[in-house]
Amino acid sequence: MPQYDFRCKACGQRFSVRYKSYAHYDAATPRCPACEASDLARLITAVAIPRSGRDYAKMSSGEMLSVLESGDGRQVDDMFKQVRGRDEADDGPAPSETPS
Ligand SMILES: [Zn+2]
Repeated sequence: MPQYDFRCKACGQRFSVRYKSYAHYDAATPRCPACEASDLARLITAVAIPRSGRDYAKMSSGEMLSVLESGDGRQVDDMFKQVRGRDEADDGPAPSETPS
């Protein structure tokens, strides 16, 4: 579930908004809870991601979004490679899907 932090340009109020999905974020117009202004600055929450040793496949979608939005092409590349590699290794039915 993506969560975004905003700062109101009118009154300086900081607040967070959670969306059910990225599509909801696209459709929604967030407003300041204090003064209802829609003139907001979006705060990119910095996520500390080590250069190596990160298991991207275990990341939540929110964390992945943070990587994508960080604009760090190498990190994004690494993430997709790891996620894709995991998919290829999972050839065939998943072991957990045993018919009952
Ligand atoms: Zn405000």
